[in-house]
Amino acid sequence: MILVFSGHNYKYETESLCKMFFSCQRFQIEYEAGDLSRDNLIFTRVKTGKTHTLFYAFVRGEGKFFAKSIRVPKDSAQEKNEQERLLCLCVHRVLSRYVGQGTKWGILTGIRPVKRIHEYWEQGMDDMAIHQKLERDYLVSPQKVDLCITTAKTQAPLLQLTQPKSFSLYVSIPYCPSRCSYCSFVSHSITNRSALKLVPSYVEHLCREIAYTGDLAKSLGLRLESVYWGGGTPTTLEPDQLAQILQAIGQSFDLSTLREYTVEAGRPDTITEQKLTVLKQAGVGRVSINPQTFQNPVLEEIGRRHTAEMTIDRYKLARQVGFDCINMDLIAGLPGDDLAGFCRSVDKAISLGPENITVHTLSVKRSSRLFQSDGLPQNLKDNPAGEMVDYAQHTLMEAGYRPYYLYRQKNTLENLENVGYAKPGTEGLYNVYIMEEVHTILAVGASGVTKLVNPYTGLIDRVFNYKFPYEYIDHFNVMLERKRKVAEFYEQQF
Ligand code: SF4
Repeated sequence: MILVFSGHNYKYETESLCKMFFSCQRFQIEYEAGDLSRDNLIFTRVKTGKTHTLFYAFVRGEGKFFAKSIRVPKDSAQEKNEQERLLCLCVHRVLSRYVGQGTKWGILTGIRPVKRIHEYWEQGMDDMAIHQKLERDYLVSPQKVDLCITTAKTQAPLLQLTQPKSFSLYVSIPYCPSRCSYCSFVSHSITNRSALKLVPSYVEHLCREIAYTGDLAKSLGLRLESVYWGGGTPTTLEPDQLAQILQAIGQSFDLSTLREYTVEAGRPDTITEQKLTVLKQAGVGRVSINPQTFQNPVLEEIGRRHTAEMTIDRYKLARQVGFDCINMDLIAGLPGDDLAGFCRSVDKAISLGPENITVHTLSVKRSSRLFQSDGLPQNLKDNPAGEMVDYAQHTLMEAGYRPYYLYRQKNTLENLENVGYAKPGTEGLYNVYIMEEVHTILAVGASGVTKLVNPYTGLIDRVFNYKFPYEYIDHFNVMLERKRKVAEFYEQQF
């Protein structure tokens, strides 16, 4: 598709909106209105006259042509945000007609729609006013507005727990037993010999970074709220390697204020009783054991080397070891899955009774094996992801789970969302803190991104670690040097 910007520079919002209609496609961007009679062309224009401003969009292709304009008094649309909104309404209208359906999130393109609800509440808006605004001004469906408001209500008391100098610790373990077809993370399969060889050195460097970061946190008087190990699949490591990292964290940070300690044991094929015991004894209270689906043929198709039976077995094992807070991830829209299969997976997860169930919508990222540059792969077209997500929401809420965090990603099927559901009182705090950006996340390990948050001003700054384990090890001192920015941030901001 060719995307033309004329008379404006609202590239980010406009292009993001177009991508919601044409998943996985690349756009050829043009800033000058060349030959407008070409096919596969989306044209957007903002033109300000003496008294009025005109917003205009058209799309041409496949023998179809749709156009939409909005003309408003000049004074009413001077702000950038309002101009973008009006232009996006035009684009949304023409693309909805072109593809034959709208989007449930309307023209909202951001990844954190729940943050908006908290902001609206702070401005004094009630739920009805929020409904009106999001439905009328942003074309969001009533169901999604409800979901956002319910999620924000679950979060409200959890956000109260955090203090100005609170922070959470993220530990990155970028290793997995094999690579899933939809994976876009920097995760190395340990079936690769050179990746496996690096693991001991990686763990050793990670422990050094943990010690360095712990000193930093203590010197700045920061208060640790939650620890989260992700990646990757942390339980890919051997029990003694897990113990080494757990010990480094215990020695480097003051854990007396800790409210939650989570380790992703996402792949059931990595879980053993010994590993679970090591984690439990060191104070880990929450683990994720992720079925993704309980359909064995689907698991095989996406490259997961475990069965549904193994997931159930490892879940029971975690209960025996004493874990009383377990999360299970499911994915709507996996290749090879169908509505009935997905519904059975939701029902199965509920019947096992984990405290948290997170429902993701499949996202086809550029760096995943599923990605094709000319659009969605054939086996994902006409996928009933929307019905799957609706079934999950309805069934989980009936079973007593409440949504407690929600985010959106690019290139998800039907532009749907990811939602974490929890039995009341068991919500995963780290997920709320990172999504709502209420306090600093100090990240350690390859591909970790430290996010510095000033809760008074909302100012956010980031420090990036090297992405791949070999870079992380090779440039270790450079990376520690970068972390000085953490101290500078607190000295300047607080
Ligand atoms: S378990 Fe997660 S991180 Fe590992 S390969 Fe699969 S999607 Fe990627």
